[in-house]
Amino acid sequence: MIRSATDGRPRWTGLNRSVVALVLVAVVGLVGTGLAALALSRIEQDRLTRALTQRTSTVSQAIEAEIDRYATSLIDLAAAIGAQSQLETAEFTAITAAVDRQRLPGATGLAFVVRTPQSAVSARQNQWRALGSPGLTLRPTGAGTHRFVVLAKSLDDTDSSVGLDLSRSPEAVEAMDFAERERRVAVSRTYRLLKDAGLPPEQRQLGFVFVAPVYAASPTAPDNGRFRGWLTLGTRGGDFLQEAVDGAAGDTVAVTLLDGDSGDPIPMARSQPDARLDPAAGSIDTTVPVAQRSWNLRVEATHRLLVGTDRGLYRIAWLIGLVLTALLVALTGSIVGSRNRALRRVDEATAALRNDIAQREVIEKRLRQRETELVGFAGVVAHDLRSPLARIMGYADFLHEEAFDRLDSTQRDFLARLRKGADNMRVLIDDLLDYATAENRPMATVPVDLRRLAEEVARDRAADRPAAVEVGELPTVSGDPTLLRQVLDNLIGNAIKYTPADREPRVRVSCLPAEGGRWRCEVSDNGIGIPDRDRAAVFDAFIRVGGSENFPGTGLGLAIVHRIVERHHGDVGVDANPSGGSVFWFTVPEHSRVPMPH
Ligand code: ADP
Repeated sequence: MIRSATDGRPRWTGLNRSVVALVLVAVVGLVGTGLAALALSRIEQDRLTRALTQRTSTVSQAIEAEIDRYATSLIDLAAAIGAQSQLETAEFTAITAAVDRQRLPGATGLAFVVRTPQSAVSARQNQWRALGSPGLTLRPTGAGTHRFVVLAKSLDDTDSSVGLDLSRSPEAVEAMDFAERERRVAVSRTYRLLKDAGLPPEQRQLGFVFVAPVYAASPTAPDNGRFRGWLTLGTRGGDFLQEAVDGAAGDTVAVTLLDGDSGDPIPMARSQPDARLDPAAGSIDTTVPVAQRSWNLRVEATHRLLVGTDRGLYRIAWLIGLVLTALLVALTGSIVGSRNRALRRVDEATAALRNDIAQREVIEKRLRQRETELVGFAGVVAHDLRSPLARIMGYADFLHEEAFDRLDSTQRDFLARLRKGADNMRVLIDDLLDYATAENRPMATVPVDLRRLAEEVARDRAADRPAAVEVGELPTVSGDPTLLRQVLDNLIGNAIKYTPADREPRVRVSCLPAEGGRWRCEVSDNGIGIPDRDRAAVFDAFIRVGGSENFPGTGLGLAIVHRIVERHHGDVGVDANPSGGSVFWFTVPEHSRVPMPH
């Protein structure tokens, strides 16, 4: 910290101020930008969440509706099969032909499955061969009761699954048992379809089967009312989901079917497997009822979810905010920099001014001291010169009276010059003494009738030279009568003196009220006037301006006037008289305003 050169108060250095200002602006800019970006990002997040929630609901409903559609069509087929008195291959083919007209995405095939104990395998094979499938070969796996596919219709252009033993698939067995027990459609857990075992790995999918129980419903059938077997519809999970989701939400979301039964969710099938996910949107887990089970689905937004809307506005806000902050910091830096420079200059100028003032005060003090000494010296000299001069003048007068007749013309001329020189010297000594006393003489401050003073002066002066002196309505002022008389005497005297001899002097003395409780008094004449350039100088001591050589004088009268007016706290000056000549003026306090004695 340093101290200011101007006010003495502690002040931070320009550097500290600049750093604080810059840091402040940067912090405000960054915080403002951050808040704006945060608000925009919140808005965007809200929009994403709303859109994802809405899509999730649409997708759930679509999947539920699709499952219903598959189940309904399976129930219809099961009913049609049940209605046959004797189910032959041709009838199965005819009944299931209706499925070709339905769009069942992901469906791999329909199969009629019958329970067959190990002991009845070949009898059953013969029985179904006789019903229209001469090439049927049942392929039992393991021991115990088998569940053979005896009739099948492929829906995906692969070989049908006729002859397969589904008892190998616990998921299918579980669903079949449920369907038989509860007499309604069941959906299996997800598993790798037996049919897909032969597919290349990249085409394999997890799938599930719809299972509908088939009961004989023909009065003519010997087994009427009895359980005949199961009608299954194998479905590939990925293809099923893809279609269901596509129809409901296009490629805006990716839906994953999770196996929630086995601890940690395992993705079982996924729509949009290659879609680019939008991590900002997160995901929503939901449950969809599927026949006797429910599926856990995870719905995730892809980059297409909010495509076409303004994404990433918060990034633009950051960019704009950072640019604006940088500009603000630069601007502040330049303002603070120039302010500091200006302050430094002010400080330097103030210091220089103070130095200057101090030097001036010293010089003025010295000057005043010299002037006082000089005035005192002039007073002493003038005083001491008075008596020898009086003696010289006395002897000159004596010579003139007593010996004038005996002097020749040269001697008389010398005597006349002696008289004139002594006279001039007397005037100079009187003026010097007046000049000295105007400065030092104790001053009385009393009411002074300026009019009376001016008339007395005019009368005295007119005795020396005829002049028309007009004294107006002058006020009573406050001041020293002797000194003020000297002022009027000098001004009126000069007015008469500086009028050429061939012209009658016309002098006018007047006063007008002025500002600050003062009177402004003027003495105007029709004399020789003063050139513009000399007017300021005439109040200095011993200054006589051009044109006045032919008039006697010492150059001290106006300096005396100046001193006296100053001691009355007034101003003095001279203007040109518009009608020719000069107008001298001075200000003096009103009678009611008594100035402090000087
Ligand atoms: P001085 O004894 O010479 O009259 P002053 O100090 O009274 O001395 O005047 C200074 C100078 O101002 C004069 O020499 C003269 O040139 C000029 N001056 C003063 N009064 C007048 C006036 N009324 N008209 C013209 N010039 C003037």
